[in-house]
Amino acid sequence: MRYLLKCASFVDSEYESNGRLRTADILVEGDTIRRIADHIEDAPAGETINAERYLVTPGLVNAHGHLAMTLLRGLADGVPLQSWLEDYMFPRERLLTGDDVYVGTQLCLAEGILSGTTTFADMYFFEDDVARAIEEAGVKANLSTGTASLGDEAGKLQRAEDFVVRCNNTAGGRIKASFGPHAPYTTTPEFIGAMFARAQQLGVVVQFHLHETRGEVAAYAEKYGCSPIACYAERGYFDAPPRLVAAHCVHMTQRDIEILERAGASIALNVQSNLKLGSGVADYRSLLASGINLAVGTDGAASNDNVDMLEEVRVLGFMMKGSTMEPAEVSNNRLLSMATLGGARALGFDDTGVIREGAKADLVFWDTDDVSFCPHNDVVSHLLWSANSRAVDAVMVDGQFVLRHHELLTIDIDRVRFEAVQRAHRLAAL
Ligand SMILES: [Zn+2]
Repeated sequence: MRYLLKCASFVDSEYESNGRLRTADILVEGDTIRRIADHIEDAPAGETINAERYLVTPGLVNAHGHLAMTLLRGLADGVPLQSWLEDYMFPRERLLTGDDVYVGTQLCLAEGILSGTTTFADMYFFEDDVARAIEEAGVKANLSTGTASLGDEAGKLQRAEDFVVRCNNTAGGRIKASFGPHAPYTTTPEFIGAMFARAQQLGVVVQFHLHETRGEVAAYAEKYGCSPIACYAERGYFDAPPRLVAAHCVHMTQRDIEILERAGASIALNVQSNLKLGSGVADYRSLLASGINLAVGTDGAASNDNVDMLEEVRVLGFMMKGSTMEPAEVSNNRLLSMATLGGARALGFDDTGVIREGAKADLVFWDTDDVSFCPHNDVVSHLLWSANSRAVDAVMVDGQFVLRHHELLTIDIDRVRFEAVQRAHRLAAL
């Protein structure tokens, strides 16, 4: 399929450095942005779209989450992480079936697409069912089996690896698979080291929770005499690491930050989850000043409580400015880049996250006729600080529309909503 977008205003690959919007024609051919030029008059046959009313951005990338946790939304407000996990989430997660996870994932994908997300990270269970939902919905994802190491470490590592081998680069490259050792407080350092080694050999990502709460870091200090990050560094796990996506990273010393930077790790910031669970506020000044690739994630919907990336990036921007008492701490360009290119880099989708010739056509069409974009003084400013998901008119992934004029094209939302309610009520009744 070919689409010629006429007169689109868009954020191109130079935007982060020069902050200038470009207006031009964009030719999408197959899954790729084939040409960008002021006027394309000789395009081969295909659909021509008058894109004048849209701000076109790269698709948003949700770099950390647990997609099917939509089913557990609203079950535990007002509790800290450990109680939230042990008293509310873990008991219900033990009851989940593959079909529950499939439906919960579909609900999450619908919500994500409606708010402009094209690529998702997942760390959960029944990942083959998650992959099925991703493939059918036409979006992109990096999927991992959330793995704790308590008991049968060899078997768990093997099953996680089997999934990686089975699923990586499937669905025409839209699905990548990774390892997901859950967190320092649910795994031994040796288990983390073993997963790093296998991921390095297989050339895949490791995504894990890291330094999320003060208690997690304190427990390591008591047991090992150092932070989780320093402990892994001492054991050499960061010497030749795989591609790492560390979620949260709220409580870090300068040394921890330097270790992650040297390891080439990405950090997926989850500000709303950290605020809601009372986990704390990251040292944004140090993170922004470091060379670490920063990405943005919503975390699971049971601790956020939605997967709206625009809302997430706005709260992140507020916190970066507010906690440092410096409104210039982060620019609009950098914030938008973290939610798009930063996430794509983190999750291993190196051919997306940016609008340029040769990149994959993962695009969001924001309707600038929405009142939140009026009076068009600076539409990227309006996007970040005024608009909401109501303005998402269309979403394209690999050159295919998955949302058009607010209508989901790949997910039967009425069926998903009905099934999600039945399944969520069963789980809530525990
Ligand atoms: Zn998480």
